[in-house]
Amino acid sequence: MFIDDTIAAIATAPGEGGIGIVRISGQKALKVADEIFRSMSGKTISEYKTRTLIYGNIVDGEDVIDEVLLAYMKGPNSYTAEDVIEINCHGGFISVKKILELILSKDVRIAEPGEFTKRAFLNGRIDLSQAEAIIDVIKAKTDMAHQVAQNQLEGSLSSKIKELRGKVTEVLAHLEVAIDFSEEDIEEITYQTLKEKAEEIRIEIKKLYDTAESGKILRDGLKTVIVGKPNVGKSSLLNSILGENRAIVTDIPGTTRDVIEEFVNIKGIPLKIVDTAGIRETEDVVEKIGVEKSRESFNSADLVIMVLDSSRNLSDEDIEILENLENKKTIVILNKTDLEPKIEEDVLAKYVKEENIIRTSALKHEGIEELYDKIESMVYKGSVKNSSSLVITNSRHKDALLKSYESINDAINAIDSFLPYDFIEVDFKNIWDYLGYINGDTVKEDLLDTIFSNFCIGK
Ligand code: GDP
Ligand code: ZN
Repeated sequence: MFIDDTIAAIATAPGEGGIGIVRISGQKALKVADEIFRSMSGKTISEYKTRTLIYGNIVDGEDVIDEVLLAYMKGPNSYTAEDVIEINCHGGFISVKKILELILSKDVRIAEPGEFTKRAFLNGRIDLSQAEAIIDVIKAKTDMAHQVAQNQLEGSLSSKIKELRGKVTEVLAHLEVAIDFSEEDIEEITYQTLKEKAEEIRIEIKKLYDTAESGKILRDGLKTVIVGKPNVGKSSLLNSILGENRAIVTDIPGTTRDVIEEFVNIKGIPLKIVDTAGIRETEDVVEKIGVEKSRESFNSADLVIMVLDSSRNLSDEDIEILENLENKKTIVILNKTDLEPKIEEDVLAKYVKEENIIRTSALKHEGIEELYDKIESMVYKGSVKNSSSLVITNSRHKDALLKSYESINDAINAIDSFLPYDFIEVDFKNIWDYLGYINGDTVKEDLLDTIFSNFCIGK
């Protein structure tokens, strides 16, 4: 891939900070840097070894703009695989902006969001799944999510996809031979062996696809609502959870001033507790999500935690909420276990499985750990054991796997019906293409633009 223009951008986040970094990539990077940089030693950049930090000034004619450290990374051993210059200047708004403007006056264009990473991909240094992992590393909200993204960046998914495509290629090669020669020549390729190979591929695709649910949660958080009638202990429980798990991020998205999402880290799982008025501010928010109002929250929630007061009889109101839980992933909390039990557990058993009932005393902070264990096992369902597991976190990858899975099923149906080899070949070619979406091998330019436009500027 030949890219002839040179790009530049500020790579650090806007705002005041110790240092700011301006980055240039492309053929003219070194030439432009030479024009605006005076090293303290008087030597030119090329006289230094590549990837050393050089102390000097950025100058515009006679004017010194800032005192900087400059690094020259000669391609292909750089982030983009092109010649890259990074200028470490003083942080804040003005230094970086002035230096960038100076660079842009020299026939260099401003980089689009994600364009440096896009170049790394186009130049073949990383594949698309690795490029996408970079943004996941940046956006990770827990250590676990970070680790999973880091593995993907190191190429765990890339090599799995490569391996799977290798198997598909092997089948395709056999099919080619079978198509080109008359059948009596071909003993080795029978429908039976084709089927065995196809089944093997199907199992692997399915296994990977099945990690996507946990993966999405790792990446985006588990959207959780807490419901129950007044006074059962929802706020107390919530405070227990929030108190011991430092909130990770607090988002106050745009227009709806009163929607607050709190992320708490439960055993590496980002739990996104969605609330309609703020968790700590309003004393009794959660009960505002009554039976009627709860429908909307229910529908979008990944997990519903329903709290009951175990020291009282089940009321009509409790039953009404229980009836609404039907198709939801639910944990029912029997709270206030420090008091005399009154709740009719036999009635409760009609609505919820014993395994999904957790007994707590929010007051004495008992049973909370069991709640965390339950959440963990619900999320991972045994499919993800630890952070080194290969996990699909990206919905684009998930879609591509689903399409591959559908195509392998088509192939198996075709094999079972003894359809001609060239019919079967079409299905295997589709699988090869769909798997190629994941590493970017068969992805179209406009999709690339969409993917990289989600990156930050300067990355
Ligand atoms: P909410 O209305 O569902 O949010 O319930 P709150 O968290 O405001 O609690 C209602 C009352 O029950 C408060 O007086 C709490 O102190 C009390 N409470 C909450 N959890 C427990 C518990 O586990 N045991 C006992 N004995 N009281 C509790
Ligand atoms: Zn409350």
